[in-house]
Amino acid sequence: MNQNIKKIITIDGPAGAGKSTLARELARRLTWIYLDTGALYRALALTALQRGLDPHDQTAAEKLAASLDLTARPTPDGTSIMVDGRDVTSLLRAPEISLAASAISAWPGVREALLGLQRSLGAKGDVVAEGRDMGTVVFPEAGLKFFLYADPKFRAERRFRELSACRRDITSEEVLADILERDQADCRREASPLKAAPDALTIDSTNLTIDGVLKVMVNAFRNRFFGFK
Ligand code: C5P
Repeated sequence: MNQNIKKIITIDGPAGAGKSTLARELARRLTWIYLDTGALYRALALTALQRGLDPHDQTAAEKLAASLDLTARPTPDGTSIMVDGRDVTSLLRAPEISLAASAISAWPGVREALLGLQRSLGAKGDVVAEGRDMGTVVFPEAGLKFFLYADPKFRAERRFRELSACRRDITSEEVLADILERDQADCRREASPLKAAPDALTIDSTNLTIDGVLKVMVNAFRNRFFGFK
């Protein structure tokens, strides 16, 4: 393995493109650590809502982010989060938390407050990090970067299938609206907007299976880290 290349793989992209499944599976295959950074923003959003704070209120959001006792522990299935010593991981996936996380993550002070924690989690390398600004801001020195894209309708259908397994009160139209709203907010914000790093390999997963995308990723890994063609 080429030791001069930083052993971090970043996967950025919009909601529902398959980042989590792919990052988890790629990390499992490489026996690297899987880091889900969305969980940090979700934990912050959850805490804001629990404390009656508005995630759109910049001052309140940045104050909360700077003072919160938040710890993260990567596991093979995802990133476990503790807030004030309490495990909140199981509460983070609800759709209302997704929208609140998107709103709260727009504030520069919030992003700044979470930067050190994210970097410390990746400091030892052997990490597959998933989010929106992994390749552009958090780990610009990563050895391999992917930007995963998929058509919004396709992403909404996939998310709907996942959500409708445990929730009956949600429609596919609502899921699509949520995805489009988050896409807009994530791409248009000034602080670390969602975009591909110039040196990222962009993969459109619309017409590919998870296994198909994984194959592309593993080939890129072998090529980059071991020089295989
Ligand atoms: O990836 P996930 O859907 O869990 O992320 C929730 C929200 O957190 C995203 O919509 C995005 O606004 C924000 N996020 C971010 N930067 C990251 C990860 C997530 O802004 N690195």
